[in-house]
Amino acid sequence: MSLDQLWAGWRHDYVTAAGAAERRGTDDDCVFCRIAASGDPSEDNGVVWRDELTFVVLNAYPYASGHLLVAPVRHLSSLAELTVTESAGLWEATRTAAAAIGTAYDPDGLNIGANLGRAAGAGIPRHLHLHVLPRWSGDTNFMTAVAGVRVLPESLPRSWERLTRAWPPG
Ligand SMILES: [Zn+2]
Repeated sequence: MSLDQLWAGWRHDYVTAAGAAERRGTDDDCVFCRIAASGDPSEDNGVVWRDELTFVVLNAYPYASGHLLVAPVRHLSSLAELTVTESAGLWEATRTAAAAIGTAYDPDGLNIGANLGRAAGAGIPRHLHLHVLPRWSGDTNFMTAVAGVRVLPESLPRSWERLTRAWPPG
């Protein structure tokens, strides 16, 4: 079995598990809410930065090293539900996440985006989140990356350390 097949299988389990949790219909099962309630940024919770409204966490199932997720603390699924203040905080954190990835990884480019709804590819559609990830020339194209076929050259603790160190002060 190739690495790509292994990786795609792992992601499939993750998506399936998320769907099962959602079918139970309890917000206790929301992984983003659990992360939001997990306290200060640490290597253990994978949170790189947070304030009262927004947090930035390493994707535990990254498409590339340094793949970050930016989410509102409040459990909501659509852009329309964001307050103006939450929306501004989300974008500012996204902007800063892009800067931190740039400093930590010096990539050739970045992808920033959201998958809104399961049909659009969201693994966890009930809690809004934006993806920010580094890209390199000769990389696979974006659709391939989003399909989850990537090899991981770096451990999550190592990514956490690099991005935390690169996060701008203030
Ligand atoms: Zn949630």
